[in-house]
Amino acid sequence: MRVHLINPSDVSFGTAVITPRWLYVIAAATPQRYGNPELVDETLDPLDPDTIQAGDVVGISIHTQNALRGYEIGKLARSRGAHVVFGGIHSTLYPQEARDLGGAHAVVKGDGDVVWETVIDDCARGAVQPIYEGGRLGPTEFRQARWDLMPRERYMWASVQTVRGCPKHCSFCSVWRTDGQKPRQRPVDAVVEEIVELRRMGFRFIALADDNFYPVTLTDLELAAKQQGQPRLGQLQAIRAERFELMARLAQLPPDMIFFTQITMEAAEDPKFLDAMREAKIKGALVGVEAVTPDGLKDVYKEFNVAGDELIERLKKFRKHGVNVLGSFIFGLPSDRPETFEATALAAEEADLTFAQFIMLTPFPGTVDFARWEEAVGANVVQIGGVPVTRRWLIPLALRPKMFWPHPVMSAEEIRSRTQGVWDHFYSLQQIWRRSRFIKTLSNRLAFVLISKIYRQMYADTGIATDSARMARSNQWVRWLAPVCRRLFSAPPMPELRVPQAPLALALQQSELVAQDGAD
Ligand code: SF4
Repeated sequence: MRVHLINPSDVSFGTAVITPRWLYVIAAATPQRYGNPELVDETLDPLDPDTIQAGDVVGISIHTQNALRGYEIGKLARSRGAHVVFGGIHSTLYPQEARDLGGAHAVVKGDGDVVWETVIDDCARGAVQPIYEGGRLGPTEFRQARWDLMPRERYMWASVQTVRGCPKHCSFCSVWRTDGQKPRQRPVDAVVEEIVELRRMGFRFIALADDNFYPVTLTDLELAAKQQGQPRLGQLQAIRAERFELMARLAQLPPDMIFFTQITMEAAEDPKFLDAMREAKIKGALVGVEAVTPDGLKDVYKEFNVAGDELIERLKKFRKHGVNVLGSFIFGLPSDRPETFEATALAAEEADLTFAQFIMLTPFPGTVDFARWEEAVGANVVQIGGVPVTRRWLIPLALRPKMFWPHPVMSAEEIRSRTQGVWDHFYSLQQIWRRSRFIKTLSNRLAFVLISKIYRQMYADTGIATDSARMARSNQWVRWLAPVCRRLFSAPPMPELRVPQAPLALALQQSELVAQDGAD
């Protein structure tokens, strides 16, 4: 009996930007008595069905965008006599769908790190259960990934998770509802050990694949102090102290390393935190700007962000502290008007952003927006090819509409083409070159242009804001450019690299050395 873990994708580029972390975490959760699992990442190469034999276990993790491809693989694996197990956020939300359409024998809900062993054992003894509740694990239960199973030469960036969950409650985001609002921070040692392992292999770019790297804001601390909630204040301070401890350890890693993460805009008001990020070599962060107007922020329950000139000033603070921002904007909000697109493009330019992404508002399962939308359309839901649009991920890609919500003043096509226009402007050669001014050497400036172009091809021209002809052209482009880019990101392996010590351990060791010197 072999165990296969499959990351489904409709397109395979041969080279991928970021390692799909779940694949290597669940590989680590696979007991050695079943041997090393066969790992298939379809963003690299499509699955070869002949590798699956009767009696094997096939684990497939899906999110909403790759659910349909996941179901194709599930049915195929089941037809070959394998035990089929689905996991991931989409299966957690729709377990019955995975059973009905994906041939699932079992579905794992929640975190799979611990329960996976039981699932495989049950498959092995022919007693697989329909549902396994993985729950929300405590941070010490998160698995270290099996990076030794990764094809090093095929990924540009590695990914390590330091915290799950986010205390916010944005209406378009499912993280706080699925991963919870209580931040679950992995122990610092575990995170640092994984990062060192990756640098030994030659990865110097690492994405800290967190829901929100800045889970406690200064405002949270102030409020807790005012409410005289001692236990609450203590908990928040402990979470914050752990963040600083992690960053102090990252600061001791080789200087060529670069980390990227995801934080809220409130971090701009916390210079100490931003300085610690810079020292830790966290040189880039995705910041969810979403909208440049107060009405837009209200639309997405993100009133903790700011708008107008204050927004520009806040975003600029990141750069001043050495953190480059990938600003994320949403188009198609009810308060958006045709002039919003230009205003957003201008704000992105003025705010000194290094990269930006412009996404069309799409209600995702598990979000407040989705629940409201589903309830509003009720029984009158539009169907495409017999599938209601509230289950759009089941509509074949070629027929899938680009926009689902009727907008008060703009058509779906208008929003799509205006969104594409903003991508075109932001990533024009002239704009990219202008943005590269902060880079000192010509070769690094050229590398920045290349990376900007590939980012745009991968995310703008393959996303929902594009048309299918452009998507096909773009896939070709990426296939050609990605290997060049990968070489730019890699570094010579450092097999001898040691795990940096905790500051206390380091101080103790140093004082012991001093004492020894004295004795000598
Ligand atoms: S969008 Fe970001 S800040 Fe908002 S809930 Fe999701 S992870 Fe948290």
